[in-house]
Amino acid sequence: MSDPDWPAVARKLAVRFAARAATHDREGSFPFENFDDLREAGFMKLTVPRSQGGFEAPIATYLRVQEELARGDGSTALAFMMHTKLFGQQRDGPSYPERWFDEFCRGAVERGWLCNTVATEEGLGSPAGGGLPETVAVEVEGGWLVEGRKTFTTMAPLLRYFIVLTRIENAGGPPDVANFVVYRDDPGVRIVETWDSLGMRATGSHDLVMEGCRLSVDRLVTRRAAGSADLRGAAGMAWFALGVAATTIGVAQAARDYAVAYARERTPTNGRTIKEYPGVRTRIARIELLLQRSRALVYDAAAAWEGRDQPGAPATPPPIDRIAVAKIDTLNNCIEAVDLAMRVVGGVSLQKSRPIERYYRDVRAGLHNPPLEDRALEMLARTALDEPPEPPKGVE
Ligand SMILES: Cc1cc2nc3c(=O)[nH]c(=O)nc-3n(C[C@H](O)[C@H](O)[C@H](O)COP(=O)(O)OP(=O)(O)OC[C@H]3O[C@@H](n4cnc5c(N)ncnc54)[C@H](O)[C@@H]3O)c2cc1C
Repeated sequence: MSDPDWPAVARKLAVRFAARAATHDREGSFPFENFDDLREAGFMKLTVPRSQGGFEAPIATYLRVQEELARGDGSTALAFMMHTKLFGQQRDGPSYPERWFDEFCRGAVERGWLCNTVATEEGLGSPAGGGLPETVAVEVEGGWLVEGRKTFTTMAPLLRYFIVLTRIENAGGPPDVANFVVYRDDPGVRIVETWDSLGMRATGSHDLVMEGCRLSVDRLVTRRAAGSADLRGAAGMAWFALGVAATTIGVAQAARDYAVAYARERTPTNGRTIKEYPGVRTRIARIELLLQRSRALVYDAAAAWEGRDQPGAPATPPPIDRIAVAKIDTLNNCIEAVDLAMRVVGGVSLQKSRPIERYYRDVRAGLHNPPLEDRALEMLARTALDEPPEPPKGVE
């Protein structure tokens, strides 16, 4: 039996998500029912390897799914991506030991459980900046004691596997950084519902607090010297950055669809439908241009990534640079596209009763997901100046 047409299934689900989005956005509540729908349709195993019972969707399918889901609800799409990207990253750049990766796969396939990496902290900001986590793991009898507070824990209300980045001090030497699996019902673990943001309000990206949290030895998943390269290598960035870009395109596409439908219908009492005005037409055309350009960049970068090891694959620009370009340019294009869509719709675009003001807020969020613009530009500058690439310091 062939696999489902995942983007088509995602499009159907997105219609349901769109109907629920305004309420979750207004209340800042987590859309549990969207995740029930995703689970029922089989999406939890979309990117899990076939050898582990999943569908092993290629990166382009994963991106198309992101776009479709985000047309319905950006928050659900962005949150869900944190789960799916993890399996893609591991397929292309193994970093988790077999025992834990098997467990994540089994959880997703058999139970529809979700996993996410929990790295960011108030003091640290993004670990991609090269800082050390303040969350600390200390070896104690029979295991580890973990203490600290994480911010931006997307899907906190529903996650099964919190993969938490910590620091381990080494006597007389530089510290290590390590990931531990934490469960919500571990002793000393609590979620503090802090997430009250401008956009992507329904991602449940709350704080995870660990106080006196004792974990057994086997919960240590990865450990490396602080400052050494992230074990996921370029795969970490490929699946994350392109997933964020595709999600952002989906949000901008929803704004485009709203503006175009509005322009066809809106006929002020002077009798002329606004789609006839040259200013409106130019803006609509410019939105098309920005969206098409973004898609071209994202899917070109995805193809370059897929073909990176094939004989004859072009060496320049390196796939990872194309991914950085696609992410930066897509974010800026989509922010501009939604802004133009707002201008097409006019004053009523500001009304809370219309979804377009939500798209205007949601479309910005990906700016603050890795790679951030400054760091991505630095990568491009190094390549242009024939300087060696910096090892990836981490993505969430
Ligand atoms: C909706 C949403 C969901 C998220 N979900 C998760 C999640 O599930 N898990 C998780 O761990 N994190 C998550 N994050 C956090 C995110 O990945 C970033 O870690 C967070 O936004 C902070 O990053 P920052 O670079 O702005 O922070 P900071 O490090 O405080 O940076 C502030 C500014 O300084 C610049 N800067 C900092 N260091 C450098 C440097 N070395 N070189 C150049 N410029 C620098 C940055 O570019 C930025 O402009 C999420 C964020 C958002 C918005």
